[in-house]
Amino acid sequence: MQHIYSDHTFQMACDQFDLIADYLSIPVSLRGRLLYPKRSISVAVPVRMDDGSTQLFHGYRVQHHLSIGPTKGGTRFASSVTIGEVAALAMWMSWKCALAGLPYGGAKGGVTVDPRKLSAGELERLSRRYMQEMIPFIGPHTDIMGPDMGTNEQVMAWFMDTYSAYRGISVPEIVTGKPVSVGGTAGRRESTGRGVVYLVERAANVMKLKLSGRKAIIQGFGNVGAVAAQGLAYRNGMKIIAVSDIDGAYHNERGIDVREAERYILQHGNLKGFTGAESMSPDEMLTLPCDVLVPAAVSEVIHGGNAGKLKCRILAEAANGPTTVDADKILFERWNEIFVIPDILCNAGGVIVSYFEWIQSLQSLFWNETEVVDRLFRVLETSFTAVIKRSREEKIPHRFAAMAIGVERVMKARKDRGLFP
Ligand code: NAD
Repeated sequence: MQHIYSDHTFQMACDQFDLIADYLSIPVSLRGRLLYPKRSISVAVPVRMDDGSTQLFHGYRVQHHLSIGPTKGGTRFASSVTIGEVAALAMWMSWKCALAGLPYGGAKGGVTVDPRKLSAGELERLSRRYMQEMIPFIGPHTDIMGPDMGTNEQVMAWFMDTYSAYRGISVPEIVTGKPVSVGGTAGRRESTGRGVVYLVERAANVMKLKLSGRKAIIQGFGNVGAVAAQGLAYRNGMKIIAVSDIDGAYHNERGIDVREAERYILQHGNLKGFTGAESMSPDEMLTLPCDVLVPAAVSEVIHGGNAGKLKCRILAEAANGPTTVDADKILFERWNEIFVIPDILCNAGGVIVSYFEWIQSLQSLFWNETEVVDRLFRVLETSFTAVIKRSREEKIPHRFAAMAIGVERVMKARKDRGLFP
């Protein structure tokens, strides 16, 4: 491992890659080029705080590979952010974009900060300064940013405005996930969660499982988790029996009122004190009996210690990297009990609609929400079918099948372009 990426999440992404590389018999001489990021940028981001002091934050951007097109990926604001974690997320983006057939390499960015501890003014100054530091390295045909954990439409609007101010013209195509008022696309905010729900429906369909009246659990009640909860509850009639956020987990066997929980979070910032459910241990929540389990928060939450205890029928990986390699081995032994929808397929809705948004911004041509959702489901259907087919034909786990398709496509592009000089 290159020293700068030394991090458990990057190690996990490498271990996953090694398994696929062995399976595909990729020559050792090609592996390093596929695995290691093409470019990694580390920036110091000074921010004037409300009390008059200046605080220095560390920001990163990793562009994993440039063989298929510009790079694309979200920006994470979280205290856990390291350059290794960002590199792992960038690598997963590469396989995800290739699996969905998008003309992008993977990228990711982040700032090591707990955004909940910043005032609105401090968050805006941090966002703008981070974007300003990144200007020499990104561009609408070089690297396009989007939202991730801890960032949202407002942060994307500040990114876009900062880049546009520097260019002297409006450049909406520099970011995706921005508000519709400044060139965002209808349905982008909901796209990841909607995609998760579509794929859960498809998995249930393959398993001949009727979702109505069945139980779901959602870990992480942010952009992705809350939209997924809504779709499972209101589109499919499922009971959401437990939800969690960074501050705790909440359980109600009769079903949690999802809209009420969302309203509560809007008012209070988290679910502490929510009367529609009982507080419980976040770890135990994951092993409650349910039909659909949706990890929609951080990585490595399903590991060797709890994978054998999961009591779900469908594991829909909305988060990036929620399942460790150890857990994967256990889940493969339980393949006829648990249908895994791997992250690079399950949460691809976000980058697919980001791709639509980028195209629309480049052309100043806008599709309505129905067109966006319809196109999203068509792309997801193609990916889902390809993964299931390959998994069945080669008798390999869904993650293996999804990654094999992604890695092969990147490898083919590399091979066709050749090595310069
Ligand atoms: P978000 O910031 O809107 O929400 C994150 C949620 O997770 C919050 O409720 C937060 O309290 C909770 N959380 C954080 N740490 C937690 C922990 N340790 N345990 C339990 N809950 C915790 O973020 P998001 O955009 O919804 O992203 C969630 C996940 O989905 C991330 O893994 C992200 O990389 C992935 N993802 C997001 C998108 C997107 O379009 N936003 C696209 C693809 C993948």
